[in-house]
Amino acid sequence: MNETFVEVVAESRLMRRIAELGKEISADYAGRRPVVLGVLNGCLPFIADLVRSMPGPMEIEFLSLTRFGEEGRVSIAMDTTTPLQGRHVLIVEDIVDTGLTLASLRRMIEIRDPASVATVALLDKVPRRIIEIPIEYRGFEIGDEFLLGYGLDWEGQYRNLRSLWAVTDLSVLKRDPYALNQETATTGEGFGAR
Ligand code: 5GP
Repeated sequence: MNETFVEVVAESRLMRRIAELGKEISADYAGRRPVVLGVLNGCLPFIADLVRSMPGPMEIEFLSLTRFGEEGRVSIAMDTTTPLQGRHVLIVEDIVDTGLTLASLRRMIEIRDPASVATVALLDKVPRRIIEIPIEYRGFEIGDEFLLGYGLDWEGQYRNLRSLWAVTDLSVLKRDPYALNQETATTGEGFGAR
């Protein structure tokens, strides 16, 4: 058995949790028409499943960020098409690690004078946080492991995996970015996510 890659959250568990999140968020946004704002590229499968569990009116928008430097500074590489002023903005993130990216992004959104800003993150790497940042909705709290799949990549690969995998030895991927065989990746709940 290949111990380098361990499935930590199976597809069925992801779907159950995302349906719960969608229900909770929909109840909180009843009577409002939020802009659900996905941060590309990692948000892609998550936002697709999340919005389909939120039946109310909404607009779906995307932006993408360019990171530079070690301090997590970001700039907007691709912007929204809808103005955010006066809107209820729900940021959709795949994972919050140190929190630096989300902190910068929230500042950039708040400057646009929205009616409200909240974040839903599928994964919250709590022990890695170095800046306090509100995350109003979260799917799973995780530890320090490096994850792949369901939007999360290694050198652009693996975003299309249907479940989440932990990499126990990153040197394997550094040597061979294609080391996880997507086609034979099997299921079975692993460790870590609560
Ligand atoms: P932060 O600014 O919160 O430290 O970084 C967030 C970004 O780091 C995420 O959007 C993601 O691109 C990347 N990242 C953090 N942890 C992981 C991980 O476990 N796996 C992958 N593939 N990317 C991660």
